[in-house]
Amino acid sequence: MSPTVKGAILHGRKTVKTVVEGGRKKVENVVEGGLDTVETVVEAGLNTVESVVEKGRKTVETVVQHGRKTVENALFHGRVTMRAAVLHGREDIRIEQVPIPKAAVGELVVRVGAALTCGTDLKVFRRGYHARMIVPPALFGHELAGTVVEAGEGVADFSTGDRVVALNSAPCGECYFCLHGQENLCDDLIFNNGAYAEFIKIPERIVSKNTLVIPENVPLEHAALTEPLACAVHGLEDSGPRKGDIVAVIGGGPLGLMILHVAALAGFETIAIVKHDGQVEAARQLGATHVVQCATVRRAIRETRALTPGDRGVDVAIEAVGTPETWQEAVELVRKGGTVNFFGGCAANTHVTLDTNRIHYSDITLRATFHHTPAICRKALALIAGGRFQAGAFITGHAHLYELNRVFEKLMNRSSEIKTAIVP
Ligand SMILES: [Zn+2]
Ligand SMILES: [Zn+2]
Repeated sequence: MSPTVKGAILHGRKTVKTVVEGGRKKVENVVEGGLDTVETVVEAGLNTVESVVEKGRKTVETVVQHGRKTVENALFHGRVTMRAAVLHGREDIRIEQVPIPKAAVGELVVRVGAALTCGTDLKVFRRGYHARMIVPPALFGHELAGTVVEAGEGVADFSTGDRVVALNSAPCGECYFCLHGQENLCDDLIFNNGAYAEFIKIPERIVSKNTLVIPENVPLEHAALTEPLACAVHGLEDSGPRKGDIVAVIGGGPLGLMILHVAALAGFETIAIVKHDGQVEAARQLGATHVVQCATVRRAIRETRALTPGDRGVDVAIEAVGTPETWQEAVELVRKGGTVNFFGGCAANTHVTLDTNRIHYSDITLRATFHHTPAICRKALALIAGGRFQAGAFITGHAHLYELNRVFEKLMNRSSEIKTAIVP
């Protein structure tokens, strides 16, 4: 480090700024001067940080320790393209350089800290499209948390550097359903995709209705669980379990396990009905009172009922697989007066046959739950921040964006992974 730079720094910020303006070589010297010095350089302003960042990884790390806001700017500013996953069709994801989005009025651009894989994305990967959400070629991924790098004109609630979770959808707030507290059924629900990328644009309506600041103690990848957890919380609430009830959850996928965990945390006796060995372990860890692992539906029904007093059946059965067969299974699990929630969405044009007498004379309530509402999303994030929810248990792997194809291939082969955090 040149004696001149050192001297300049010792003289305070104004001087450092001057030094930095003096050119690149000198900035390098300043950075090499150590921690105190970096801080001072960062404070000197954006241009300076950029130069610091260009000096390589070790330097960036140091900068990061000195305040998020500046670094996020540093990593974003002046770039034109970014890495992003583009879905081109069935099992065809390519990592490409695409333009970095710009925040228009009311919008945000967020640097993705973590994007989580999800059953819906897996379905999209397998089929190559999603009738409602995505038509290729398109950016995709929808469970994310990150840091605001650009706030469009008119955005009052967020600014650069804020850590946020931006939900995948937002209701209009004006239609019949929105005005009746059923925003999940909004006639004009808009969806946002593009989480598997370095940056994502958040549309104005999601910014104003469904973007939440993440409490400081919550890691980004945990906060990214807000969306699926909101669906899970919604599903349990809709099922209306009462104190002392036994709640059975069919399915050991991410959402089945989440509903199970939420029910266990709420103090209900729970029965997890799962298929694979890895799911048995996960269900236990997440608080299942009992775990039933069965190859056949018939046996699962018998064994589950045997866990209830007099084999009468469970009070609430929540189906989280999404096949007609398991929908029917759910109806067979409940006691007289019990409630069934068809939570898992089945493929289009599928049907079930139900025993009308059993439903009528046993007074069974059948219902279904779809998606989430803004109020429930807030509840979900509060649950994650509360500390009892085992967020870490749901994230069983980490991978770089470049590994996305491999990650989905692995998920298709029914590995024991629950969710993988994709770090761009
Ligand atoms: Zn999802
Ligand atoms: Zn609406």
